[in-house]
Amino acid sequence: MGEIITVLSGKGGTGKTSVCAGVSTALAAEGKTVLCIDCDIGLRNLDLSLGLSDSSSLSFMDVCGGAYSVEQATVHPDFPTLRFLTAPITLGSGAVDLEAFGHFLDTARSQFDYIFLDAPAGVGSGFKLVSTFADRFLLVTGPSPAAVRDAARTGELLELMGKTDVRLIVNRVGKKMFSALSITVDDVMDSAGLPLMGIIPEDKNVVLAAAFGKPLLKHSKRCAASSACRRIAKRIQGIPEPINLR
Ligand code: ADP
Ligand code: MG
Repeated sequence: MGEIITVLSGKGGTGKTSVCAGVSTALAAEGKTVLCIDCDIGLRNLDLSLGLSDSSSLSFMDVCGGAYSVEQATVHPDFPTLRFLTAPITLGSGAVDLEAFGHFLDTARSQFDYIFLDAPAGVGSGFKLVSTFADRFLLVTGPSPAAVRDAARTGELLELMGKTDVRLIVNRVGKKMFSALSITVDDVMDSAGLPLMGIIPEDKNVVLAAAFGKPLLKHSKRCAASSACRRIAKRIQGIPEPINLR
């Protein structure tokens, strides 16, 4: 049975989509079957971080509604075991049918090793969609106090829902910034009150890859952010990997 992993944050712009793309492609590069679903309705951009175009992609609403099957979802040209569903641009007058979404995810569990949900920012209406059915959560924060506080709040909300497998990813970590702020990754973990899944350094390759329309792992296999995503992919599979910045 496949696992549903939601990548979320409290604050916007912490790197959820970049982390979702980096870690899911790292798993696909190991031959795992992966379904990536952009759940950021209206502000979708997981296609860019995956180096795909959203124009020809089915949305998860197309598949939930029964008009298409997941076998028709876009197959990644560089990672043939990875499929992608985008988010609808608008919902029109309707809302996402939570029951239909849950039913679709249940079916997808038997077809994929991992199903990634790329969440919208915050704890608004999209939060229920991405949190209700997920088994595990990767909570992405930056080092700023506001991001850490929002991550802590999001972690508390998940705890109230009985979701216990919540792990922190501290993104955009730069040695200089950390020492200037006089904080360490340990401090961030303590403030958020959550265990650590990984740290990802500030790396210009993340921005460049999206700008060139390539997945990070194809743009630069060995850059610091790629390596960090590959280590997180190992830890997701229960394989121990050291936590460091390179
Ligand atoms: P979110 O999905 O949380 O809104 P994104 O993944 O879209 O965040 O990232 C926001 C911006 O930060 C993007 O321009 C992205 O390229 C950049 N970014 C994310 N992670 C890193 C990183 N580790 N190093 C450098 N830039 C990053
Ligand atoms: Mg995003």
